Amino acid sequence: MHEAAMGLRRTCRGVGVGRGVIAGPVLRMQDPLPEPIDVPFTGDVSAEQSRATLALAQTRTELRERAARAGGHAQDVLEAQALMADDPALAEDIAARIASGKTAERAVYEALATVQQMFMNLGEYMAARSTDVGDVCQRVIARLTGVPAPGAPESSTPFVLVAQDLAPADTVLLDLSQVLALVTSGGSATSHTAILAREKSLIAVVGVDGADDIADGELVLVDADAGVVTIAPAAKQVRTALSRSAARIRVSPSGPGELADGTLVPLLANVGTPSNAIAALEHGAEGVGLFRTEFLFLGRRRPPSVAEQVEHYTELLEEFAGKRVVARVLDAGADKPLSFLRSPAEANPALGMRGIRALQANEPILRDQLEALAAAGAATEAELWVMAPMVADVEETAYFVTLAREFGLQTAGVMVEVPSSAVLAGQVLGIADFVSIGTNDLTQYTLAADRLQGPLARFQDPWHPAVLRLVKLVGDAGLASGRPVGVCGEAAADPMLAVVLVGLGATSLSLAPAAISDVRHQLRQFTLESARALAAEVIGAPSAAAARAMALAH
Ligand code: PEP
Ligand code: MG
Repeated sequence: MHEAAMGLRRTCRGVGVGRGVIAGPVLRMQDPLPEPIDVPFTGDVSAEQSRATLALAQTRTELRERAARAGGHAQDVLEAQALMADDPALAEDIAARIASGKTAERAVYEALATVQQMFMNLGEYMAARSTDVGDVCQRVIARLTGVPAPGAPESSTPFVLVAQDLAPADTVLLDLSQVLALVTSGGSATSHTAILAREKSLIAVVGVDGADDIADGELVLVDADAGVVTIAPAAKQVRTALSRSAARIRVSPSGPGELADGTLVPLLANVGTPSNAIAALEHGAEGVGLFRTEFLFLGRRRPPSVAEQVEHYTELLEEFAGKRVVARVLDAGADKPLSFLRSPAEANPALGMRGIRALQANEPILRDQLEALAAAGAATEAELWVMAPMVADVEETAYFVTLAREFGLQTAGVMVEVPSSAVLAGQVLGIADFVSIGTNDLTQYTLAADRLQGPLARFQDPWHPAVLRLVKLVGDAGLASGRPVGVCGEAAADPMLAVVLVGLGATSLSLAPAAISDVRHQLRQFTLESARALAAEVIGAPSAAAARAMALAH
């Protein structure tokens, strides 16, 4: 397959992460180990069980050691992987399968495949974690069969890493000084590959159609701005792309987010846990525009107590004295299921009891959270704003804002993630103190395309003019009411799209900390007038690709 296409110039499309263009030879990730054959096991069951136990323990130790070396987000995920390998329920399941006549390899494979399927069924947040489970499985089987664990290639010269998808364990082992770019056939803008690429400021294109056919040694041109990978590009094409990229001097301006005419556009960070605060500040975040509080709730049987929540929120708020921190109350349901939320089984959870609806149906949980946020706000010097996820209309807006005020939370807003609230933005902003546009969900609901489904990934593009027109409705309502309009979806991390969003009326942007510097740089190339002119042009485009191309032509 690889050899057949080798040397032929071709272009593959995917989702670009980060910024820039680079060219280099490909090194592929080693292929995954084959599925262990299901032959009946007739040997000594307890010896086979011990073999499996040992392999699990060795994998766990190896993952813990890597976690200790990794730091950052990768450390959290590697520790989570080590915990998976340490799960007594998993060990029991494997032992039972061996007792029923499976080899250790097959038992490990089947037990972890079951876990993987469970994660897949839970939706995007958890589905992205299923790659980690697959990785643990490969590592245990490699231990059992005595082969090297599949993983990152090593090279003393720079290369473009091409893989199906990357687990954090792989990226942690990479010698980043030799990795020019990442290209994956799987993954989405929210997969680990994308998250880690952003964290490490690596150029990446994920979800690339045709990436599996790129062979070792082929020269590729990876263009993250355009989300395109060109295989065997012409020398002239490489020269032009690289000089375009070099011309865009990658200065790291400091100071506030602002346009060339001095219009301030605060650049805030998206964070999930208090431990993310340091990285956010190091990257120059002017505050937090999206504190995803659900991370404290995920994977628990019961919600955290008010006291525990106060401690958690205080830890984050303390880092942002004098700065804005927008805490989003629990965003649960659909892709973020929580066992303690009372909700009926749903055939279509993305259109079901999620976000503010789920909270309204479980009001004591919301009340506890607002109480904890108010206490943490009062105990620190941060400027605490609160907002509700998945608000669909004016009634839900009024419900949340009234309740937040009851707890003394003075600045209460809502996320615009459902097209109805964008259409009603004027009325919503008559009640809410601010809105924050979640372009990830707004895109999936506008295009009626599940953001979890790989084959529908082409619809999950916030450059789509239909999405941009909804952003404009919200921006216009913000301008008319004089109230802030933030954007906190992944769109805000795309430097050129960030300019368009500001042109459409966004007054602040919240994004992954590592992307702040590029966005800050790009904003300074435009005045408010030129950003508005660009936005006006782009929303007339017939497609997302055309909109992006129009903007990049500037
Ligand atoms: C969004 O939908 O854009 C958003 C920021 O929320 P999340 O990605 O957490 O659903
Ligand atoms: Mg959302």
